[in-house]
Amino acid sequence: MAKPKFPVPVQKNEYYEIDITGLGHEGEGVGKVEGFTVFVPRAVPGERVKAKITKLQKTYAFGRLIDTITTSPDRAEPPCPIYHRCGGCQMQHLSYEAQLRHKRQTVVDALTRIGKLEGVTVHETLGMDEPWSYRNKAQVPLGEIDGRLAVGFYAPRTHEIIEMQGCPIQHPYNDEIVHATKEILQELGIKHYDEQTHTGLVRHIIGRVGFHTGETMVVLVTNGRKLPHVDALVSKLRERIPHLVSIIQNVNTQQTNVIFGRETITLWGSDSITDTIGEIKFDISARSFFQVNPVQTEVLYGKTLEYAQLTGAETVIDAYCGIGTISLFLAQKAKAVYGVEVVPEAIEDAKKNAALNGLENAHFEVGGAEVVIPRWHSEGIKPDVIVVDPPRKGCEEELLQAIVEMKPERVVYVSCNPSTLARDLRYLEDNGFRTVEVQPVDMFPHTFHVECVTMLVRKDQSEM
Ligand code: SAH
Repeated sequence: MAKPKFPVPVQKNEYYEIDITGLGHEGEGVGKVEGFTVFVPRAVPGERVKAKITKLQKTYAFGRLIDTITTSPDRAEPPCPIYHRCGGCQMQHLSYEAQLRHKRQTVVDALTRIGKLEGVTVHETLGMDEPWSYRNKAQVPLGEIDGRLAVGFYAPRTHEIIEMQGCPIQHPYNDEIVHATKEILQELGIKHYDEQTHTGLVRHIIGRVGFHTGETMVVLVTNGRKLPHVDALVSKLRERIPHLVSIIQNVNTQQTNVIFGRETITLWGSDSITDTIGEIKFDISARSFFQVNPVQTEVLYGKTLEYAQLTGAETVIDAYCGIGTISLFLAQKAKAVYGVEVVPEAIEDAKKNAALNGLENAHFEVGGAEVVIPRWHSEGIKPDVIVVDPPRKGCEEELLQAIVEMKPERVVYVSCNPSTLARDLRYLEDNGFRTVEVQPVDMFPHTFHVECVTMLVRKDQSEM
């Protein structure tokens, strides 16, 4: 390892007192020792803490929080008993109001540092009135603790199961599904899968809930097709989980971290559950992607629709459309919507959902947005509004180039990563668009994830 240019002022396993001045990307406290950056998970800005250095790199270190010397009023008691061991949430030790403030600040920092954007309005984060029990999907691995079957989550960066009795961010139906299913598997002596030896049967229990319909589904992911005592299993599940409408088996025999395998079998009931977002109805099968926080999804898409400013006469493109959720939301108010998405199954769902809602003005195509949209341009499709909702890595430059060439009046950028958002806004600013405003929406309370919607207009359309 190359020697650092300056002597590093901290040493591994030593203790230091540190003033915490900010939060890092994953919600960890950040402070400095003689100018050297130290990340201290679970420490809160404004606090002076004692930390033990656990990991030392050339330009920064990680420390374990040993003691808080002064405590911030933003600190909160995490309601979850396994919060400090489970990898799922990172911010339960902050009051919800402080989480929302921090998420907005993350966006402001990215826009100024990465996007070099000045004077953009970033609104207060739209949070939830009741930021608990918000998830509609639970995917829980099984393991063994002291010879008993256990369900839980993996500890951060490991596959060690941390046993869970209930998860406060899950819909209560999901907790019920997971625990009842575990008990039944235990009663019937159906073995859990052991990833070390690649033996045993049940890998994951998945619960899904339609928030508006109350319909639920349980999926058992199994290492093999043969499921012993299947009739008893089905009748016990039906008896103990009253709202169940669908019992599914998915077969995954690969040695992999990917949860689902190729084959899906309906053991009882319907192949899917339904739920609604606003007025739009969705059919959700075991493997369908669906936003996990349906309450905030409505807020996010509401903002997207507001920023699109549709009158009914517009042609809209929805890039990275997934199962067409945003497309269908916009199709209610537009002349035509064109959605593009790279996963073929998602486009099949999008077409099914369009038909389910009688929205004939929504068209969907499989492919890379950066390939299909330039082709639409050459075929003469002229969008008034382009909506993009890319994955964390942001938009491909070819797509941004196509947007610039197509000259829509407005672009609405839905983003789950403020850094790539800021990078892409810079590109659009340099090529004829102006960023008007940004609305952060809290889709994942108590985690570090930040989602936001941004409105851009063409500079030659606005005051210039
Ligand atoms: N707008 C949807 C999904 C957004 S998630 C919703 O709100 O539900 C981002 C989506 O982009 C994923 O479905 C992913 O499969 C898709 N994707 C990733 N790379 C892509 C590309 N190059 N072109 C089109 N879609 C892509």
